[in-house]
Amino acid sequence: MKLFVTGGAGYIGSICVEEILNAGHSVTVFDNLSEGHRGALDPRATFVQGDLLNPAEVGSALAESGAEAVMHFAANALVGESMTNPTKYFRNNVTGGMHLLEAMAFCGVRKIVFSSTCATFGTPERVPIDETFPQRPINPYGESKLMFEQMLRWYDELHGIKYVALRYFNAAGASQRFGEDHRIETHLIPNVLKVALGQKESVSIFGTDYPTPDGTCIRDYIHILDLAQAHMLALGSKESAKYNLGTGGGTSVREIIATCEKVTGKAIRVQEQPRRAGDPARLIASSEKIHDELGWKPKFGAIEGIIESAWQWHLAHPFGYQG
Ligand code: UDP
Repeated sequence: MKLFVTGGAGYIGSICVEEILNAGHSVTVFDNLSEGHRGALDPRATFVQGDLLNPAEVGSALAESGAEAVMHFAANALVGESMTNPTKYFRNNVTGGMHLLEAMAFCGVRKIVFSSTCATFGTPERVPIDETFPQRPINPYGESKLMFEQMLRWYDELHGIKYVALRYFNAAGASQRFGEDHRIETHLIPNVLKVALGQKESVSIFGTDYPTPDGTCIRDYIHILDLAQAHMLALGSKESAKYNLGTGGGTSVREIIATCEKVTGKAIRVQEQPRRAGDPARLIASSEKIHDELGWKPKFGAIEGIIESAWQWHLAHPFGYQG
């Protein structure tokens, strides 16, 4: 199959591209490299540097690729930034996404797998979160992803574009070749590993007074290769659907830090800080629907293995793709 992958030079996109290529498909990556890296491009893929905000660029790249399906990873994805710069999120994630759907309708591409997020649910009343939960985002990032989910419904009804929206929980870990490298790193695991590498003095714990057993936030960390596997299954699905994607287990911030100490053999200095705006206490997925309908099952569930893979990648690339 020929695939057109937006954001294929980013963290999640690059590893999914690698897995798609390993499965024998061919890939055109479309990325503006604002967040992604040249070093994260799989050399087996065709690369087009372009911007979703330019309808002509995305239209001609999609037409030339001859793609039968699209995977749409390209987006801005920081909750905090979206609270200070909502326009960036609505412009890139909603307007840019709309140009992609328009190009798909024009070129007759009838399948898309979309990177959505648990942030579309806002603060859930309980966990685990299944697909019947109300979607009430509490930040523009989550809202922008929900808006795209809603657009998908209409492009399906009006243009016959089948979609699978995957609401990721916390993607983590690395493949042997590609890993997590953001220009400004805000995520917990890479920040803890930077302390272990001696590149940071300490890691902040944002909030120690949450109603959780150790007072810190609980998240559902899913190995990037399990996430990539879900994309492969979504590609084969004939029906439009939305799935939550996590392991069903939760790990607190303190547990992540303790596991990083165990995996790396280094002591991690912490600084306890006030809560970060917009962080719900617990986010845990119910992934029963994708298990039942597509047969998806995480293989790398344990947090220790996830952190071990991230650590190996960071050891091999201490300065990320710049190193
Ligand atoms: N977090 C933290 N220190 C950091 C980065 C994150 O305590 O340096 C916390 C954050 O408040 C959240 C959890 O770790 O409760 C996971 O945050 P991350 O940014 O990795 O992912 P998110 O859940 O925001 O997608």
